[in-house]
Amino acid sequence: MYQTAIRSYLSAKNYPQFDLKAVLFDMDGVLFDSMPTHTKAWCQTFHEQGLPFTEEEGYLHEGRTGSGTINIVYQRELGREATPEEIEQIYTRKSALFDAHAEAPVMPGARELLEQIKANGLKRILVTGSGQKKLLSKMNHFFPGQFTRSDMVTAYDVTIGKPNPEPYLKGLVKAHATPQNAIVVENAPLGIQAAKGAGIFTIAVNTGKLQDHHLLDAGTDLLFNSMAELSAAWPELLKIIQNTSL
Ligand code: MG
Repeated sequence: MYQTAIRSYLSAKNYPQFDLKAVLFDMDGVLFDSMPTHTKAWCQTFHEQGLPFTEEEGYLHEGRTGSGTINIVYQRELGREATPEEIEQIYTRKSALFDAHAEAPVMPGARELLEQIKANGLKRILVTGSGQKKLLSKMNHFFPGQFTRSDMVTAYDVTIGKPNPEPYLKGLVKAHATPQNAIVVENAPLGIQAAKGAGIFTIAVNTGKLQDHHLLDAGTDLLFNSMAELSAAWPELLKIIQNTSL
């Protein structure tokens, strides 16, 4: 099954085989189980404004910038864009509700996968739309020895954000890699679109509440049910990635 997906990617890209050097990781819903809190914070914020917003929408919009999500809801419900002041007010409220929750736990399986990839001698690059202050110290605390500042693409590095390929294209630059040297681990439809738009082989983990078809329709090359499942499959998967040729 892995081999079919890998062959089909190599063939579409006209690569004879992978020359894997780096794994690019999304953060929310991949390294941290933070999406339930993000989604609840969005729902409460919009409901306080009298605007409908469902949990499923929270998951579907994951990866979009805050203003992007707010404008989609404003256009749909009010037929206009939000003003800069409204965006500021809504995003501040959403962030406050998110911050009021306890720190999201590390996703089960994430540490084990990162440790394996480090032992494999592959670079780990973080590619997130998050603009959290102290992100580096948070990563050092929960994933010691895995990421340095120069291995991270954050909200401060990108102007457009997912689903635009920009964050993953910048991730490739940080990894000194081409798509032939890299794979992406993502959980969100828009993140998958961004990774595929950057031309990178994409592994999805369905860690949230969306049905699989949302991730498959976004174009993922492989799909796992959890990070623990991906971590368990990794030794075999890596072998196949490294040894499959056209
Ligand atoms: Mg994510």
